[in-house]
Amino acid sequence: MAAFRTLDDIGDIAGKVALVRVDLNLPMKDGSASDVTRVEAARPTILELCEKGAKVLLLAHFGRPKGQRSSVLSTSMVVGDVEGVLGKELMFIPEVSGPVVEQSIGILSNGDVGLLDNVRFWPGEEANDPDFAKAIAAHGDLFVNDAFSAAHRAHATTEGLAHYLPAYAGRAMEAELKALDAALGNPETPVAAVVGGAKVSSKLDVLTNLVGKVQHLIIGGGMANTFLAARGVDVGKSLCEHDLTDTANKIMDEADHAGCTVHLPYDVVVAKEFAANPASLRTCNVHEVAENEMILDIGPQAVEALADVLKTCRTLVWNGPLGAFETEPFDEATVALAKTAGALTQDGSLVSVAGGGDTVAALAHAGVKDDFTFVSTAGGAFLEWMEGKTLPGVAALSS
Ligand code: ADP
Ligand code: MG
Repeated sequence: MAAFRTLDDIGDIAGKVALVRVDLNLPMKDGSASDVTRVEAARPTILELCEKGAKVLLLAHFGRPKGQRSSVLSTSMVVGDVEGVLGKELMFIPEVSGPVVEQSIGILSNGDVGLLDNVRFWPGEEANDPDFAKAIAAHGDLFVNDAFSAAHRAHATTEGLAHYLPAYAGRAMEAELKALDAALGNPETPVAAVVGGAKVSSKLDVLTNLVGKVQHLIIGGGMANTFLAARGVDVGKSLCEHDLTDTANKIMDEADHAGCTVHLPYDVVVAKEFAANPASLRTCNVHEVAENEMILDIGPQAVEALADVLKTCRTLVWNGPLGAFETEPFDEATVALAKTAGALTQDGSLVSVAGGGDTVAALAHAGVKDDFTFVSTAGGAFLEWMEGKTLPGVAALSS
């Protein structure tokens, strides 16, 4: 990983204006946020800059206004939620550049926080228009990016600003980059990757990148069915992408050449209908799935074998549940392996990093979110990082 500057490198910023990109794209319910995790993540950076005496101007997007103003997509909607988390009053500024911003900066005292309006109200944001970025940069002395979740986008406030102002990673960005580097950039080996979820097609680039980087590739979830089918297993009515069996075979060949062991389940949990605790529920060997059955989870023997694999590993990266975990009892394999990974992490023998919308939900359901070394809530950015891609917002901080 290329070096990047952090708040430790920032020097004396008393009275300076810090433009801080954060993730305030909060899920809303009845006019207020139903989850403020993203604000909590940005809190240390914002308060640290305030303590150093900067005037902090927050930049964020909120929903998809497609380059036009929209009253319901104004960041003013989240002022109360942000104030609650920061324990501080915010000045809402209904622009991102120009005289209104200039006057507002004049009113702010050192250590105060202003919130600019939704950066996506202006087409220049998503177009990464240099003039738009320069107009915003004109108000600031430094740029701090604390929104890893938006770093896979080359937009004006996620990438462009870093070209016009001294740029620093905020504390949340720093923690995320360090965790990801410890998992795949510079990991202690052996490394295991768990890739699960519904479909191979949505994670082809992830699988291709991982086979060259990890010693154990554990495939679960619906995508295991496609790999099993590629090996000649009849998966019955299971979710399976039959048109991708050649691709699955190619990935297994590449893994072979790279010295990566691919782990597929020997036993599976099947049912004739997809419902909670169905009457037709049974566990069987992968070769015994009937024509009218679906594989909805990997089996207990497979979980035991995978736990043994994790015990030999030093690093784990996990994306995707092993079964249809939202419906009982198809959460059992995911919960059991997550608990093993959490316990190994707590014992100090494993560095564990996980990410993905459903994966975070599954780990929370297993009650082990806090036992992992790092759990990323950045959906798209986390997946692109697992694909081995350079994230523009991160690259801009290292140049
Ligand atoms: P993430 O959001 O963590 O990247 P995905 O969106 O790729 O994960 O996959 C999660 C979905 O995969 C869940 O909704 C889960 O129910 C589904 N899934 C897992 N295993 C199976 C299976 N055997 N059959 C059908 N769906 C499955
Ligand atoms: Mg998902």
